[in-house]
Amino acid sequence: DRLKDGLQKTRKSITEKIDQVLVSFGKVDEELFDELEEILITSDIGIETTMRIIEDLKEKTRERKIIDALKVKDLLKEELEEILDTGESALKLDSKPSVIIVIGVNGVGKTTSIGKIANYYKSQGKKVLLAAGDTFRAAAIDQLEIWADRVGAEIIEQKEGSDPAAVVFDAAQAAKSRKADLLICDTAGRLHTKKNLMEELKKVSRVLDRELPGADRETLLVLDATTGQNAISQAKTFKEAADITGIVLTKLDGTAKGGIVIAIKSELDIPVKLIGVGEQIDDLQKFNAKEFVEALFS
Ligand code: GDP
Repeated sequence: DRLKDGLQKTRKSITEKIDQVLVSFGKVDEELFDELEEILITSDIGIETTMRIIEDLKEKTRERKIIDALKVKDLLKEELEEILDTGESALKLDSKPSVIIVIGVNGVGKTTSIGKIANYYKSQGKKVLLAAGDTFRAAAIDQLEIWADRVGAEIIEQKEGSDPAAVVFDAAQAAKSRKADLLICDTAGRLHTKKNLMEELKKVSRVLDRELPGADRETLLVLDATTGQNAISQAKTFKEAADITGIVLTKLDGTAKGGIVIAIKSELDIPVKLIGVGEQIDDLQKFNAKEFVEALFS
């Protein structure tokens, strides 16, 4: 399947190395944990998280009196599932209309993800409206238009340089009058100064509070898995500017840095809700901890 195929390189960089170490050691000892630690640290899981995993593994092998090194693999899977399982990966979008605000820097796959999400809800028979809130670049508006055409969603836009909050205001009105099920708002993708970013996102949020009070809202941060630890620092910046309810992690296909999923959950405590596993319109999946860990270790 797509997820398993997509995680091929990550599997090579983490799982295959772990397997080799477990086989060559045969028995559990201190040195085995040093080797595992080394592999995890170099695979984008992050130092802090790796330390925590290794400590837990040591404790569990002691408690359960495990001496067979191969059994450590099951413990590791259990551990990763525990870290990743938030029990809240589904988008909560029950009201009509409900709203998704999509944030993230240029190039991470924001527009593509909006297109994929719009397509998913369209295929569920929902009426989807897009707000072209990335007014900083004309190209961003054009790209979103292309996706709107492609999936059959309506789009609300103004000219380049206009106020994103004004676009979102128009879109909120249109969502009400046209009885849309879902309004997806794009936002500026440049990493401007933190202060501007905060002001812009807060303003958009206030407009939605006012115009669509009580509407279910998801604020999704799009991060590019191929950027590894860089994605973590982007998330830290955006976390200060918005109440992020979930992460869309793109480009998990073809990267060896899939371990970043674990770092995101453990270091930021924001659930990964959707994952991008390719460039095609249906290459977006709901994130499921168990499936992810299984795909990683299969
Ligand atoms: P934006 O600047 O954040 O809006 O980024 P775009 O949506 O334009 O995407 C940038 C590039 O990343 C495009 O070539 C997309 O096709 C590609 N892309 C987006 N998501 C994925 C994904 O999940 N996997 C792969 N392989 N490519 C993706």
